[in-house]
Amino acid sequence: MVKYCKFYRECKSKAVYRIPHSNLALCKDHFLANVEKRVQKLIQKSHIIRREGKNKILIALSGGKDSQVLLSIMKKSYPENIELHGLYIELGISDENYSKDSGIIAQSLCDKLNIPFYKIDVKLLNGFNIDDIHILKQIIEKNKQISKDDQIRGECSYCGLLKRYHINKFAVDNDFSVVLTGHNLTDEATSLVNNFFNIDIGFLKKPGYFIESKTKNLVSRLKPLFYISEEEIAMYAYLSNIEHLPTECPYSAQAPNIKIKKTLLEIEQYRRGNMISLLRRYYKVMQPEIKNASSAEKHLDRICALCGSPTFTKICHFCKTTENILETLKKYNI
Ligand code: SF4
Ligand SMILES: [Zn+2]
Ligand SMILES: [Zn+2]
Repeated sequence: MVKYCKFYRECKSKAVYRIPHSNLALCKDHFLANVEKRVQKLIQKSHIIRREGKNKILIALSGGKDSQVLLSIMKKSYPENIELHGLYIELGISDENYSKDSGIIAQSLCDKLNIPFYKIDVKLLNGFNIDDIHILKQIIEKNKQISKDDQIRGECSYCGLLKRYHINKFAVDNDFSVVLTGHNLTDEATSLVNNFFNIDIGFLKKPGYFIESKTKNLVSRLKPLFYISEEEIAMYAYLSNIEHLPTECPYSAQAPNIKIKKTLLEIEQYRRGNMISLLRRYYKVMQPEIKNASSAEKHLDRICALCGSPTFTKICHFCKTTENILETLKKYNI
């Protein structure tokens, strides 16, 4: 039986998608408008767009559907009063041409929408990329019996650190007022559950979609797709014909969260809207309690002696990690 759009009673078009948490069947136009409205609501709530002065906003691009959709919605929603720029971090993931193709796709959408595009190559700046980490990890794991001196975490851990560092540095150096990232509801719910399992208080007391910076050399970050699921984003990209890389990162299968994400998606099948209510309720009810109960917040009140980034210690975590990786790479002749 053909279902019709339930957008009030005015629309007689055929429904194309049912919003999971509200069970609302919508036609193409009303579905796209629904997603855009939810994104605009978060933008409005976080007051990142000032009426006066310049709104210079940086979007972190990966070539994947999330950031491509975010860029399109931002351009469509705010054609006049903001200055959007796109930044792509070249991570050097060569399997299936992943990084190369991602960069091309991200640039192509920026060109199409007339948005300035920038690329940062981590190998050029730091002397290693994610493929180097992968090779190093394999060697260290193979040599575990012989030496337990060298420790290495998963590729995603270093990848996240490199991306966060360079995005922030670029934003600070170029005077951006805020950075937008394409983190979606599905990934955020997965990350919350994972950190809950680990009782990671540092994560659990952090605010959800908006981290407002009160520190010099640290730019505020907003996740406008925080309440939009991966499935809705894929649908938005499909219906709006937004080009994006269809493949996943080759290292994503080893990401520690992958099984939690699968389980949450299964739960979503019989508890529709489980993820969105988990995030909404957590950040409304529990996060403020945890924040208040935990010891006084440590402030990033020092400046890294090597790079000038805000830090708790003399040398920041990024500089310590990159130095350590370079030494280990040298030791194994990589
Ligand atoms: S899956 Fe991991 S390695 Fe791949 S892009 Fe994402 S964070 Fe980086
Ligand atoms: Zn409709
Ligand atoms: Zn540093």
